[in-house]
Amino acid sequence: MEEIKKKDIRALTREQLREFFVSNGDKAFRGNQVYEWLWQKAAYSFDVMTNLSKETREMLEANFVINHIKVDQMQRSSDGTIKNAVRLHDDLIVESVLIPTKSRTTACVSSQVGCSLDCRFCATSRLKRMRNLNPDEIYDQVVAIDNESRLYFERPLSNIVFMGMGEPLMNYNNVLKAIDKITSPDGLGMSPKRITVSTSGVPKLIRKMADDEVKFKLAVSLHSAVDEIRTSIMPFNAKFTLSDLRESLVYWYEKTRSRITYEYVVWDGINDTQKDVDALVEFCRFAPSKVNLIEYNPIDDGEFKQASNAAIDRYVNTLEKNNIVVTVRRSRGKDIDAACGQLANKS
Ligand code: SF4
Repeated sequence: MEEIKKKDIRALTREQLREFFVSNGDKAFRGNQVYEWLWQKAAYSFDVMTNLSKETREMLEANFVINHIKVDQMQRSSDGTIKNAVRLHDDLIVESVLIPTKSRTTACVSSQVGCSLDCRFCATSRLKRMRNLNPDEIYDQVVAIDNESRLYFERPLSNIVFMGMGEPLMNYNNVLKAIDKITSPDGLGMSPKRITVSTSGVPKLIRKMADDEVKFKLAVSLHSAVDEIRTSIMPFNAKFTLSDLRESLVYWYEKTRSRITYEYVVWDGINDTQKDVDALVEFCRFAPSKVNLIEYNPIDDGEFKQASNAAIDRYVNTLEKNNIVVTVRRSRGKDIDAACGQLANKS
């Protein structure tokens, strides 16, 4: 007998679930109950849905699956950072990271398995893009980190950054659907102001986000405001040039009034001259923004090295002189390869 392929129940809307129950001779409100179990309570099996009868649970089991993620391995860094290796229903693995500070817990989540872009300094770029994550797989990563935050730090998750594996805008619809669930009272009810989508800069999709009136924050991995240099380290910049990126960011700010964060790593011999700093200052003038200078985490081959402290100071001083807010970010979780640019399923 041919096996019936069961449907992923979390691909259904609340309304579709209600209709399913009605068409099976049951009450529509059962759909609400199941929806609540699936999202608010993040149930990973029909068995735990204790307010449904055994028959109803068996009927769900016969028709649907819950493609819940599984945290395969959890590593803890000496600085408290936690890295999860997350197994998906088709046995592919992605990674997500919990970053604790004194007052907050941030989840850094993945949006794709591998990445279709080819930033030369990034470990993930070495894994070819296998597929996009579904909204529920993104949601589950957040729930897993929220649970870990409550268990190990006795507080709920406070912030989310889409800075794990993959380019979130290349999985636009699913990332936005996941954020919808994370922010909805039906889901985790988090404020969108606590969520940052970090992109390497896809101008067309930055405009689309502005048109879609999203409420979360935007960060751009800039790393150079000089086209030649940016193209040499982020080859897709040949297609999505800095002037296109700049225009899309001006558009973003005009529409959303939300300040942009530029993520920026300074590498020895690559972008550490005064000319590089001046180009960044110029780029920052187009729309209200701030700069995060991030410490670099080498990914083995030594081609990219963190610039000297003097070079970092030059950036900080020049940016501050030009009234641009700048912060220097120490990297977290380096000993477990959980820091920015290091996620590559090594564990
Ligand atoms: S830095 Fe981001 S966009 Fe670039 S290759 Fe790595 S994961 Fe992809």
